Amino acid sequence: MKFWDRVIGNKNRKHRSRYCSFEGTEQLQEKRDYMKENNIESLRTALAQADAVVIGAGAGLSTSAGFTYSGEWFHTWFSDFEKKYHFGDMYSGGFYPYDTLEEYWAYWSRYIYVNRYRNAPKPVYEKLWELVKDKDYFVLTTNVDHCFQKAGFDKKSLFYTQGDYGLFQCSKPCHQSTYDNETMVRQMVEAQGYQIGADGALILPEGTVPKMEIPSDPVPHCPKCGRPMSMNLRADDTFVEDGGWHRAAERYSEFLRSFKNYEEQPATYSPGVIPYFFLKSCMKWLSLQKQSV
Ligand SMILES: [Zn+2]
Repeated sequence: MKFWDRVIGNKNRKHRSRYCSFEGTEQLQEKRDYMKENNIESLRTALAQADAVVIGAGAGLSTSAGFTYSGEWFHTWFSDFEKKYHFGDMYSGGFYPYDTLEEYWAYWSRYIYVNRYRNAPKPVYEKLWELVKDKDYFVLTTNVDHCFQKAGFDKKSLFYTQGDYGLFQCSKPCHQSTYDNETMVRQMVEAQGYQIGADGALILPEGTVPKMEIPSDPVPHCPKCGRPMSMNLRADDTFVEDGGWHRAAERYSEFLRSFKNYEEQPATYSPGVIPYFFLKSCMKWLSLQKQSV
């Protein structure tokens, strides 16, 4: 594929002339390197001078830590489901309308275990923790994989707006509570033939073919109404915002209020909150910087 096709994509060839006034490959790379280095330097300076840090984290942070939903990671744990249903990534498999709850929970318990209870392949969150641990900080995140807490971030300085793979709720929901699911998820993956190592690693013993369904007994049901449980993930209007969610929201508001220039808060905690609110906050910060010069 030619260089410009790679940059703008074949589909956008009609717009090609708009981009062709740029320098050649070598100059373009030099410009990118310059911008990258200067942006990192600016960020380093801003971080050193900051009284407090607000971190906005979306899916890209976990992707950079090695949590990917396709490729090798997907094939290792879901090749049997891939072969049977022909979906090509973990995310798509989560939406498949399985015929039985036993098969649904075989898929979802593996999904939750490998994304929530195993450690990330790369220490990205740990490095971020090292940068802010001595600062006054707060994290607003749409990620649901618990990586911040595993890396050392204080639970009281985190607001997981979109839920947590580690929590179940009533699927209706008939009440506004969530339930820690680690014991249930472990039981469900072990019922498929997997073992869990002392370090939390998921192990498929040699010669074992994993089952693609679990027995009926570990299928989770609501303790109040008996309906099937579901993940506490914001996918539709059944998402439960429990007491912990509201307390985290309040702590986040309090944190912002305590810094006079950042009293403005997100109007909504929809999935797009991270790019929208943080871009807006950065623009405001830049404008205040200019005013103070
Ligand atoms: Zn219920």
